[in-house]
This record gives sequence, C-alpha cells and structure tokens, in this order.
Amino acid sequence: MSTSLFARLEPRLSSVSKPIQYVGGELNSTVKDWDCGAASSQESGEGTGAGETVRWALMYPDAYEVGLPNQGVQILYEVLNERDWIVAERTYAVWPDMEKVMREGDAEGPIPQFTVDAHRPVRDFDVFGLSFSTELGYTNMLNALDLAGIPLHATDRGEDDPVVLAGGHAAFNPEPIADFLDAAVLGDGEEVVLAISEVVREWKKDKAGPGGSAVNRDELLRRLAVTGNVYVPKFYDVKYAEDASIEAVVPNRPGIPFRVRKHTLMDLDAWPYPAKPLVPLAETVHERFSVEIFRGCTRGCRFCQAGMITRPVRERSIETIGDMVENGIRKSGFEEVGLLSLSSADHTEIGDVAKGLADRYEGSNVSLSLPSTRVDAFNITLANEFSRNGRRSGLTFAPEGGSERMRKVINKMVTEEDLIRTVATAYSHGWRQVKLYFMVGLPTETDEDVLQVAELAKKVIAKGREVSGRNDIRCTVSIGGFVPKPHTPFQWAAQLDHETTDERLKKLRDTVREDKRYGRAIGFRYHDGKPGIIEGLLSRGDRRVGRIIEQVWRDGGRFDGWSEHFSYDRWVESAATALAGTEVDLAWFTTREREYDEVLPWDHLDSGLDKDWLWADWEDALAVADGSSDIEVEDCRWTPCYDCGVCPEMNTEIQIGPTGRQLLPLSVV
Ligand code: SF4
Repeated sequence: MSTSLFARLEPRLSSVSKPIQYVGGELNSTVKDWDCGAASSQESGEGTGAGETVRWALMYPDAYEVGLPNQGVQILYEVLNERDWIVAERTYAVWPDMEKVMREGDAEGPIPQFTVDAHRPVRDFDVFGLSFSTELGYTNMLNALDLAGIPLHATDRGEDDPVVLAGGHAAFNPEPIADFLDAAVLGDGEEVVLAISEVVREWKKDKAGPGGSAVNRDELLRRLAVTGNVYVPKFYDVKYAEDASIEAVVPNRPGIPFRVRKHTLMDLDAWPYPAKPLVPLAETVHERFSVEIFRGCTRGCRFCQAGMITRPVRERSIETIGDMVENGIRKSGFEEVGLLSLSSADHTEIGDVAKGLADRYEGSNVSLSLPSTRVDAFNITLANEFSRNGRRSGLTFAPEGGSERMRKVINKMVTEEDLIRTVATAYSHGWRQVKLYFMVGLPTETDEDVLQVAELAKKVIAKGREVSGRNDIRCTVSIGGFVPKPHTPFQWAAQLDHETTDERLKKLRDTVREDKRYGRAIGFRYHDGKPGIIEGLLSRGDRRVGRIIEQVWRDGGRFDGWSEHFSYDRWVESAATALAGTEVDLAWFTTREREYDEVLPWDHLDSGLDKDWLWADWEDALAVADGSSDIEVEDCRWTPCYDCGVCPEMNTEIQIGPTGRQLLPLSVV
C-alpha cells in the first residue's frame, strides 16, 4: 500500500510559489487503484493477485511549467495507464522553495518526492522513469532521488528501491549519469515501456512465489539486460587506457550483450498518442495540443543529433493526423494545434493536411501552428493555410550557418538565394517579421563565417523593404552555441571554447548595431558560451563526469537549464575538485578533437548508425571546409539509400507517403 502525502503537503502549499503546480488533478490525468493489477488478474482468473501491479513514476526533470507539456512523458503516461495492471503517475522537479519546505518536513520527518497524481512517494513505485531531452536536467534527477529517499548511487540501492531508468535523447549517452542509473533505454518508448513492465510483472510474481528470496533486484536487472534492449550500466566495466581515454567497455557477467540497441516504433498510426492530452493547471511553456506528424529526419544535417538518432523517417498518415487533431481538441479544449516533427513542412502530404485542417476549423477558435520551417520547404500557400484561422505570427527559419561555406560544412544546403527568395515571398505576402536561427562555434568556423550572419540579415531587411514598400520590416537573429553530440558526424569535433564564442558573438552584435541603415531593424538574441560548454561536458562525457554532477548538486546546483539558476563557476570548481589527480579535465571532455580509433563512451550503445559512415561524413565535412570537396549528403527519402547503416541494423525502413488520401470532412460543433 502507498499512502498519499497530500495531507502533509496541503498545509504548506500556501508558503511556496505557484502551489497549483503540485496539486495534480489536471483534465485527462489519471489516478488508479494502487493494486489495480490484482483486481484485473483475479477477474480474468489468471492469477492470485499477489504483486501483479506494475507501478511507474514518470519524471520530466524540470519544473512543472516545462515538464507538463512534454510529449514523451504524456505519451508514456497514457500508454502505461491504458493497461489495467499498470499504474503510472507523474512527478516534476520541485522549485527550491518547495524543496526547502519538503526537507524541513513536519512531525513525521521530511516530505519525500511525490507524484502529482495521487501524491504517492516516488520511492513506493517499481520503476522511476526519467525522460531527458537535455543533459542539463541531470542535477534535478539527483535532487529528486535524494528527496525521494532513493540512494543516489545504483550500487547502494536495496531490494525495495525502484529501478531508476533513463530515456529520451540524452540517454543515447547515459555514461555521465551511469552511476546513478539502474538502466537506460534508447529510442522510442511506447513499446519498450510495456515490454519492461512485462518483465517487472513476471519478476514480481516470481519474487512473491516459492523460493522468491533468490529472485532479487539484480535478477530483475539481469532479465532486462539480457534482452539487449535495456542498458544496465553496472553490468559493464569501463577500462581506461594509459592516455586516459577509454580502452574498452565490456560486459562483466555472462549473457549480457556487448551492445544495446535502440527501439524504433514502426507504425505511428497504431500509436495515436497523446489521445487524452493533459491540460495544465498552471501556466506552462506551451499551451496547445501537439500532434507529431512524423518521426525521424534524414536530411543529414551533421550537427543534428535528433535527426541522426531518430532515423528513419516514419510518417503518420493524413487520416490519423486528422483524427488525432479532432479528438485532442475535443478532449482538451485547446485552441491551438501544433504539427510537430523535426521538419514538419517535409511531410509528403503537408499541403493537404494544412488545407484540410484549415477548412475543417474555418470560423472556429482553433488555430494551427508549424514550428520552424526549412527555407527550402517553405511555400506561401502552406503559410497562408496555417495563418488562415489565427493570427499571423512571425516565421522562423533556421539556416544555422552564417556563410554558404559553413552551411555546406554542416550539410544544411540552403543557399543565400533560397533564403532571400523565401523571405521576399513572406514579406510580399504581408509578413513583417522573420526570425532566423543560427549556430556559432561550428567546426572549422572563422570570425568571417559568423559576421556573414549580419550581412545576411541586412540583405533580408533590404529585400523586405523592397518587396513590401514598407520600413517596418523586422528580422530577429537568434544564435545558439554549437555543442557536438554523440551519434553524429561531429561527435569527434573540438567544441569551441566559450571565450572565443563570446568574442565572435560580440563582434557580430557590434557589426549589426553599428549599421545605420539596417541595424535598428535587426533584433539580436544570443546566450553566452558558458552553458554550452557544460552541456558539451555532459553530452560527450564518460563515467568520470558523474563525480562532477554529484559535486555540483551537493554544492546546490539545480535547474541548470535556467540561466538564473545556472552557475558556470560552480561547474568549473566542481570539475576541478572531482577530477583532481586524474588525467582529464573540463577541456579534455569539451574542446579536444577526437581521433578515429578513440573508443567513444557511447560506442556500445547502438543507434544503428555505422561508425565508419559517420567518420566518412565527418571527413567529408572537413574536405568541404577546405574546399577540396563539394560532397553533399542528400535526403534518402527522395534519393537512393546511402548506407548510413540504420535500416539494416535496426530492421526498419523509411515510411512515407503520399497516400493520396484526404482528411475526412467533419462538421465542427
Ligand atoms: S539506411 Fe539508407 S534508407 Fe535507411 S536511413 Fe540510412 S541512408 Fe536512409
């Protein structure tokens, strides 16, 4: 049995900020009987009811306002709760004021990390699953573990502790948090969470049966690991070479596979989730219903981890998209629908989807939105459909590289001509505002490449004024720092140090501001280079980085994705302390270029990408950079397969339309 903590929490909620975020009970949230599995197995006559419920606490390790809208968690929450023998509840990172209240506690002691659904202690669940879309949530994981009363280190956990499991994009290199995890899964979660639940259920039955004392927690982890689909870090030893690099990562017990594979969901139409979108109680970063219209991207942008690790492209059909939108709006009351994917305008039937939805919701309060659009995929008909029923918001394009040379190096084949033509079309059709997204710190980049961003922005404004005949044209330049990521062709690249990043950004900002004709029409948004270095450390780090994360957390580090909470100095000092006496330091993990034969910390984690293909692509990038080659990687959706390795390795294939079908007409009530 697990008891609700709400009676202990409630009297304290008035003393914390935004208390509503801890209350739960959102529209479409679920609270199930703690022993629902026992009832279901007795009804079906299959079991005795003993230990047959599998319970998941799901966490997005950030504040409620960021965590609640997260699609990944919402999908798994629903998929798991649909099974009558599984309980899934949600928990989020508590703000420092709430943490203080919980640690101070009451007469019964500290109040532990709780779920927002039934306010049960996280430690009472079988699995504590965390979804990491960014590595900057790692300190929040440690804080949640500590608040929950779960030992930080996997090796210190006992029989009653939940299995701490990580997923999400960051889990493609979980080595920096390996010491704190019992397990990690790579790739799409829908099917694997159910497969894991089955293993946990069988294990619980065996544990409750005769001779159950031998069926311990390690046995559960072993059963998960031997599937080859779940990574259990403690079953792998990391050996280091004399030069401090990794010599090998090898299983340390029989039956554990050398490599762990990612999961790929091959029929998105069969998994139309979220079907019951959660409606937040407090303000959140997105308040809309989002439908993922396809998964994966094969454009081949060399910096893009999301594109590389989610291959191949799998489209959702136009009918399913239409049904999901209609159903999601009806069940949630949201008035905005976002069509999500890594490059939504690339869906083979996006035109029909946009027109069909715009027709269907004409005259209603429902508006459509498309996240950033590729310059070469933009067309005005599409943009008009998306703005037909709502306000005409700004358009966002992401050329990523400032100069043509840089864009070739990153394989983002957008010419200046394409960009100017696209913005000219937008400005001549009434748009006044365009946002352009770039990265600084890309491999082989020079100051000149970055200063080209200013030239491009000026040309955009000049063209906008010309085609619209107006002077109130604006262009916002938004710049992020490039962080080399695992499982990409740039995984070997040296990250640019933060001092040079900041110098380049300053030069660019000054160039824009000094321009009398165009400067005032150009907005400039950027972050300094320091957080990027820490993200780089956590992205490409190995198990030695875990000590730094723990040190940072012990020194008060929380919410590292928030600029007001992030402290670069704390990370630098913690790295110096934690790595003292070792051969490695912060620079070794970040600004150092890797060689071909270096064993990378994530080499035993199989995203399907062939390492030799990635290396060849990295070499091509360098050859393009020095002008000795002009090789372009095309999109295998529309050209022959170029053998990146994913489809044969994962037994998958590209799934795209056009299907030629239509959205079913529906009358809106
Ligand atoms: S294996 Fe071929 S078809 Fe599949 S994602 Fe890679 S390049 Fe594309």
